[in-house]
Amino acid sequence: MSNPILIDPLKHAFEGRRIAGKLPVAELDERVLSELAEASGEVDWALTGFIDALGRPALRIVLSVAVSVPCGRCVQPLAVDLAADSVITLFNSEDKLEAAVEVDETLDAIMAEPELDVLALIEDEIIMGLPLSPLHDDCGTEHLERAKADKPNPFAVLAALKGRKPE
Ligand SMILES: [Zn+2]
Repeated sequence: MSNPILIDPLKHAFEGRRIAGKLPVAELDERVLSELAEASGEVDWALTGFIDALGRPALRIVLSVAVSVPCGRCVQPLAVDLAADSVITLFNSEDKLEAAVEVDETLDAIMAEPELDVLALIEDEIIMGLPLSPLHDDCGTEHLERAKADKPNPFAVLAALKGRKPE
């Protein structure tokens, strides 16, 4: 697990700051890794602060990552290209937050704490973006491809036979 990436969310929004980075999948929290078949690749992410059309501070998080999840049928790894682009609106009062969510049910709203852990935000986005029941198009074919790849190279076998000393 890696260190948290902490920002002041309101400052980030009002000053229109942008931070971005690459994060190895292997460094994500166990709650993400437990959903994956392999902890490989890296997350490409960016977090931009802005003021929305209603004058509210907001954060836009954009990320992309190629993950490998277990197939729901054969449990073999299945590659999934995951991309997220979400806006989180910040509020400084519970009342305002509730009123805003009542008007717009799709609003992703949080209370503006002095510190926001961007890493946790990235992990949430990945978990929400994972397919619910990922399946290979054709599990049988996947198995066949895998079996072919696992078979030893016939030329290597031949070379080994040739190299064998007569008894
Ligand atoms: Zn499968």
